Amino acid sequence: MSQRIAVYPGSFDPIHNGHLDIIERCRVIFDEVVIAVLHNEGKKPLFSVEERIDAIREAVGGEGTNCRVESFSGLLVDFVDRVGAQAVVRGLRAVSDFEYEMQMALMNRRLNPRVETVFLMPKQDYIYLSSRLVKEVFSLGGKLEGLVPDVVLRSLEARLRPDGRA
Ligand code: ADP
Repeated sequence: MSQRIAVYPGSFDPIHNGHLDIIERCRVIFDEVVIAVLHNEGKKPLFSVEERIDAIREAVGGEGTNCRVESFSGLLVDFVDRVGAQAVVRGLRAVSDFEYEMQMALMNRRLNPRVETVFLMPKQDYIYLSSRLVKEVFSLGGKLEGLVPDVVLRSLEARLRPDGRA
């Protein structure tokens, strides 16, 4: 039987525990998960694509996991074809995610009917977590323990509090 491969795309600026929760669920369902970091300077990211990829690799773990991390730009469905995947995985948080995600899923189906979109829900603790909120709370001095992996805490400290300001 052919390998079941999923692509989990996103900005991951930075990766947080909601993303990691989705990746864990995905790994149980698929033989391989390709975490695809979107190259989109238009979004004015805090971290470069390389920094985001390194953080994801450290958070997910290296050898022996059925995950790999890559960057992509252009049409997602073309990237899905290139890596030989059959599905796109997206996380669904609140109802507010639903409308945009459905539009994207239906557009992607139109562009490439072979690609299915699979939605997964995170643990309830992470329903309100977003990369935007992580950056905002951290920059205001809030505690993020339990919400982001250690590697992200260290990167945020270096980037947003370089003088060691608490
Ligand atoms: P994008 O810019 O594509 O939305 P994100 O990095 O914000 O990139 O999110 C990537 C994916 O992870 C999306 O499918 C998003 O819905 C999902 N996601 C983001 N935050 C959470 C969370 N707290 N719980 C579950 N899924 C999430």
